Amino acid sequence: ISRHTQHFPSTFGAKIGRVPVEIGRRRLRIVVTGGAGFVGSHLVDKLINRGDEVIVIDNFFTGRKENLVHHLGKPRFELIRHDVVEPILLEVDQIYHLACPASPNEFEILDCVIHKTNVMGTLNMLGLAKRVGAKFLLTSTSEVYGDPLEHPQKETYWGNVNPIGVRSCYDEGKRTAETLTMDYHRGAGVEVRALDPATGKAGLGQLNSDFYHVCIARIFNTYGPRMCLDDGRVVSNFVSQAIRKQPMTIYGDGKQTRSFQYVSDLVEGLVALMESEHVGPFNMGNPGEFTMLELAEVVKEIIDPSATIEFKPNTADDPSKRKPDISKAKELLNWEPKISLRQGLPRMVSDFRNRILNEDEGKGM
Ligand code: NAD
Ligand code: UDP
Ligand code: UDP
Repeated sequence: ISRHTQHFPSTFGAKIGRVPVEIGRRRLRIVVTGGAGFVGSHLVDKLINRGDEVIVIDNFFTGRKENLVHHLGKPRFELIRHDVVEPILLEVDQIYHLACPASPNEFEILDCVIHKTNVMGTLNMLGLAKRVGAKFLLTSTSEVYGDPLEHPQKETYWGNVNPIGVRSCYDEGKRTAETLTMDYHRGAGVEVRALDPATGKAGLGQLNSDFYHVCIARIFNTYGPRMCLDDGRVVSNFVSQAIRKQPMTIYGDGKQTRSFQYVSDLVEGLVALMESEHVGPFNMGNPGEFTMLELAEVVKEIIDPSATIEFKPNTADDPSKRKPDISKAKELLNWEPKISLRQGLPRMVSDFRNRILNEDEGKGM
């Protein structure tokens, strides 16, 4: 019997029948919320390819059906258009909860929607996990550290976040989502006392035996194919701009730092976490740290040596540096990223080129 079945015995697996998954492991039914998005669609590929059954819940807010088109019609794949802010009834073994608009372009215009998705969407998915005994994974973010006063950031750092700023819908929303996740987890240890009908007093304490198995990944900046072309994130901006022969826009002086992780490394980490017995939170990111000026240099080197840069004012509350300490994930999950920025960037270029070309053709250019 593999690790999979030991950690989350399912009520539902038996209904699914014999399947070509790893020997000794039965097929799992897995929900991926936000599965039509950038990270979610790569995760879906991995889960389908290893033989599991996947249900994607997505409202296509920032996601695209094109990201999943290669799975449409497969018997082990189902796509449901649904907003996680509304309750939903499903019978599943695992829930990867990714649904959340994550683009900086949306922070100011969609702040309430983002916050609601983080809070009510997470609550609903935790309620679902509780009802069916499914294991739950929250994709949180390095943004919970805010503009960090500790560098690099360890999971024990509580963060430096503005609760009323333009980014708060996202970072405070994710912090609340983490709190809810841990509340549900701890709910398993709550002592439930029923009233003794004979005396009318609380009876003997009984430990709630439900095991709300949750885990939290704090994801650092991730890039790769299928990112939205114009969602405002720095890697997608620079790559699109370089391909379109436009100047790469550097916000502020460009000396702020970030650590960029290739998407397949993240997907490996999320699956390793889901299949472990650990709760986390775990930082998931590539510790290689770059200033935005250095990133522009790498994009230039890989895409177009004649690419230029242009400086623009920075946004409010922009964290000045960010780099994960991943020693916890290394030690407990045996996970670390394998793909460097110089190896990963070329892998997203052909996808971006094709989509930009299609866009231009669509405009009759
Ligand atoms: P994305 O925008 O590509 O994907 C998010 C998906 O969620 C989209 O398909 C969108 O349509 C869907 N969605 C949004 N609101 C929804 C709702 N209310 N109901 C149902 N579906 C909804 O973003 P991504 O980069 O793939 O991010 C996935 C997750 O990882 C997010 O939770 C994000 O916060 C987290 N994360 C990503 C990064 C990164 O660098 N990509 C970094 C930190 C955290
Ligand atoms: N929920 C859901 N699907 C389920 C079970 C619950 O969407 O299968 C939602 C439910 O509507 C509620 C939330 O999850 O809003 C939290 O559920 P829980 O049972 O923990 O809380 P309660 O309903 O008791 O407030
Ligand atoms: N940034 C930039 N040019 C852009 C987009 C972003 O210089 O065209 C900067 C932004 O100010 C921030 C960094 O790049 O300092 C990372 O931004 P992103 O939105 O990708 O991620 P996050 O701020 O969430 O880490």
